[in-house]
Amino acid sequence: MTNIPKSIREKLAHTYSLETLQLVRKQGSRDTTQKFLWKLADGLLIESVLIPANPALYGEASDRHTLCVSTQVGCAYGCKFCASGLEGWKRNLGAHEIVEQVLAVERWNEKELGEEAPERLINNLVIMGMGEPLANYNNLIKALGILNAPWGGGIGARKITVSTSGLAPQIRKLGDEPFQFRLAISLHGATDDVRNKIMPINRKYPLSELTAACEYYQSKKGRMITLEYILIKDVNDGLNQVKPLAQLAKNLNAKVNLIPYNKVEGLPWERPEEENQERFVEALNARGVTATLRREKGHDIDAACGQLRLKTERELAEAAVGAA
Ligand code: SAH
Ligand code: SF4
Repeated sequence: MTNIPKSIREKLAHTYSLETLQLVRKQGSRDTTQKFLWKLADGLLIESVLIPANPALYGEASDRHTLCVSTQVGCAYGCKFCASGLEGWKRNLGAHEIVEQVLAVERWNEKELGEEAPERLINNLVIMGMGEPLANYNNLIKALGILNAPWGGGIGARKITVSTSGLAPQIRKLGDEPFQFRLAISLHGATDDVRNKIMPINRKYPLSELTAACEYYQSKKGRMITLEYILIKDVNDGLNQVKPLAQLAKNLNAKVNLIPYNKVEGLPWERPEEENQERFVEALNARGVTATLRREKGHDIDAACGQLRLKTERELAEAAVGAA
């Protein structure tokens, strides 16, 4: 900006930065799920995951991509199966750090593809990376407002899915916002008994409160909710969960997204055998519930949230011990 005085340019450069995310590691290759590990200005690590459109859904491979975005460094909610919560919560991401994950991946793509790069790579966002988005409410809303605005990211609100482990009051608050975001609930158990065992948040907001908040959201938005349900062997994959899960899905007019558990190093949980996964989804379908079983694309590259960061931090810690 040579049209402003040099002294002001220097002051601006000193006070503000345009790029705060530094790519430290990338896993995966084009046409598959790709995972980006970013270093923040204060040295902490977060991840974003780029997922190509499913050719099975769109007929052929396309330019469409979904970006899975993080909202916190670590997570305070401590779900027993999750890598993000393993080392606790470090801090909230600022709105700029949430927005920048999208910009940084777009910039990376432009650099990679040069002239070939499409004008936009990402047309879909899922707020399912590290952290609990609704626990960083104000920064989340600010960031999504920017990513949604025609003067900003221009990503339609219906193309943005916010996933929560079940912060009931904030779900209601989100229902009062003027945005039509999609809502996904990390359910992972269809009874308080199962949910209490794996998700501490359920003791604060048990299923009755969570479902009431979802009903409120739906009454305000009229949108279909997704229930995310990770299948964990011998924890929540029993057929006794099918009936209450079907009931919940019907009451909420929700569809169910079944996700085979991704193994986390150091945790004892396993994914069920494939035939048990199939049996579960079929039993739900037989009860008239729309349920899909995700055949994980990113399984090989530690795709579930928080896993690449955890691995990198452990490697760095080991290297530090080795060096000492
Ligand atoms: N905190 C929010 C959003 C981030 S987690 C939430 O819990 O919804 C995004 C999703 O990944 C959640 O549904 C979470 O339960 C799931 N997840 C966490 N660890 C996983 C693992 N090891 N395998 C598969 N899914 C996992
Ligand atoms: Fe946090 Fe979500 Fe992981 Fe639970 S599943 S620890 S809320 S990131």
